[in-house]
Amino acid sequence: RGAGVGGPVTTPTHCPYCALQCGMNVAAGGVITPREDVPANGGALCQKGWTAGELLSSPERLTTPLMRTGGELVPVDWETALSRITGEIRRIQAGHGPDGVAVFGGGGLTNEKAYQLGKFARVALRTSNIDYNGRFCMSSAAAAAQRAFGLDRGLPFPVTDLARADVVLLAGGNVAETMPPFVRHLAEARRRGGRLIVIDPRETATARQADLHLRLTPGTDLALALGLLHLVIADGHADEEYIAARTTGWAEIASSVSAYWPERVERVTGVPAADLRRAARLLGAPGNRVILTARGAEQQSKGTDTVTAFINLALALGLPGTPGSGWGCVTGQGNGQGGREHGQKADQLPGYRRIDDPAAREHVARVWGVDPADLPGPGPSAYELLDSLGGEGGPRALLVFGSNPAVSAPRAGRIARRLRALDFLCVSDLVLSETAALADVVLPAAQWAEEDGTMTNLEGRVLRRRRAVEPPPGVRTDLWVLAELAVRLGARGFRREPYDVFEELRRASAGGAADYSGIGYERLDREGGVFWPCPAEGHPGTPRVFLDRFATPDGRARFVPVDHRAPAEDVDEEYPLYLTTGRVLAQYQSGAQTRRIRPLAEAAPEPFVELHPDLAERLALAPGDRARVTSRRGTAEAPVRISTAIRPDTVFMPFHWPGANLLTSDALDPVSRMPEFKVCAVRVQAARPV
Ligand code: SF4
Repeated sequence: RGAGVGGPVTTPTHCPYCALQCGMNVAAGGVITPREDVPANGGALCQKGWTAGELLSSPERLTTPLMRTGGELVPVDWETALSRITGEIRRIQAGHGPDGVAVFGGGGLTNEKAYQLGKFARVALRTSNIDYNGRFCMSSAAAAAQRAFGLDRGLPFPVTDLARADVVLLAGGNVAETMPPFVRHLAEARRRGGRLIVIDPRETATARQADLHLRLTPGTDLALALGLLHLVIADGHADEEYIAARTTGWAEIASSVSAYWPERVERVTGVPAADLRRAARLLGAPGNRVILTARGAEQQSKGTDTVTAFINLALALGLPGTPGSGWGCVTGQGNGQGGREHGQKADQLPGYRRIDDPAAREHVARVWGVDPADLPGPGPSAYELLDSLGGEGGPRALLVFGSNPAVSAPRAGRIARRLRALDFLCVSDLVLSETAALADVVLPAAQWAEEDGTMTNLEGRVLRRRRAVEPPPGVRTDLWVLAELAVRLGARGFRREPYDVFEELRRASAGGAADYSGIGYERLDREGGVFWPCPAEGHPGTPRVFLDRFATPDGRARFVPVDHRAPAEDVDEEYPLYLTTGRVLAQYQSGAQTRRIRPLAEAAPEPFVELHPDLAERLALAPGDRARVTSRRGTAEAPVRISTAIRPDTVFMPFHWPGANLLTSDALDPVSRMPEFKVCAVRVQAARPV
């Protein structure tokens, strides 16, 4: 335990931000040093991690509940705030039923909070309206993995396996900016002679390190994956022995990709046929090969099928479940993996169980001490939930924990209007985020180094987050808040301490796909981290899943034939350019935290519109001019940056500030309900001088 900022103790913990969950020590004054003993980062941190201590003493920190009175948010005591919340919940549920109140969670919440939030919604509120921002992150990869393997664990192998790869194909990820220490593993592979192939419409910092960059038209990753599989089969690189022994569904696959010959794929994707052939040759050679997908390929209205096509490619090459090789998803948010396992997702219960599975309901209801018949069923997905707020038959109240949907949701202008249409909005956060600024009640939440808990990183490794400093007086943990609200609403069995909540989570997860029952705080303290599934205390954990069998009923992975289709919104005369969005090195997600850290705000102070020089010339825009970007959903303005890194037919905007998501599309993937963040149609013009 730490002794508080200014105290003498150094506390080993993990970074507050991304899914790599780099190990770091927090010392007096919030001074951060990297830990050497955590394999994911091995002594490295990115700029965000190095400066994370500033969050602990941010002058913008909320330290008292706020309540809207006369149009203004004014400080109130906890009793007043909690009474107002429970009063509003009772009033609204009396008039509109249990589903009149909704809950929105976050992929950065600890496992304990994600678990408690799901239980609170189902037991204390009895609402089916709960989902979280992870739906906007990795849901397409999760759906594709479930479909192919019967199990979704982002990386089914330790991230350090990448250092032994002979070929890594990374589709739609800019890890050099989003999680720089991840690149060390890729660099080690290249140092040993391995090759890196990057698929991305932009020449990102990651693509610049690649041996081969396939710079495709936004929204065409699926055609590209099908083209690679076509070539793998045509060149005789399919692993027939593996396919026969470990998969089903192969018979339909060859015909499903027969039309994707290189020249046709070149026409669809813009990637030269020669580069496709080179990529297929690299992938077809013997050795350790890894195929990774990330948000660029996944955040599309066909994201599930796109990831499926990359999994089909990996299966044809015999990679999943083969030591040193495989397919994996580079999860983004800090607890993007754990956040999707413990029940804050609309269709799930703890242990990665389906909420519509009677046996799952029975098991979880027993742990929670309730009747399974009283547990609500599945609710709408994140965007559908947000879009229904305050509307006909939709929820009238929303409780938000660890999310900033007014900035991070697609079509964000519409979502902000939905939030304003609510009868009651309550937001728990560290700072007055854009969403909190719309709320009727704001609760000041404890943050990463101020509370204990666990996180599950992108490898499925469960880690201990430790309390290193005391939270400011007046701040409470989300676990405390949820337990207090539950008691006031007449629900029993809600614990306040992270240890107690995790012990209950272990029981609730027992027997599920994500089984944590063999993982306890003491063991995590001893061992540093444990991979799930870990079904017993003597069990070693599972660094590599699928080595012997896949999690399907017959133990075989499933090929699923898929076909390319255009984005939901293609370019036309009125909106002639593609918009794609992404991240920059010095900011994280909606920026609610990182925009408030001085060195990060100085390094990346504002959004920008990245244009190719040819396009900028055509539009008569110079560096620093303000550009106005317009889609069918809204308009955003930002200074122009000119770069040959972007295609002439595409503009790029980072999404860490309000703006980019005013433009993005709310077309949803039919399986995962993932919105199409990564491609929509826009026009660009000079903004009128202010
Ligand atoms: Fe590591 Fe990610 Fe934190 Fe950077 S933001 S230090 S990559 S966990």
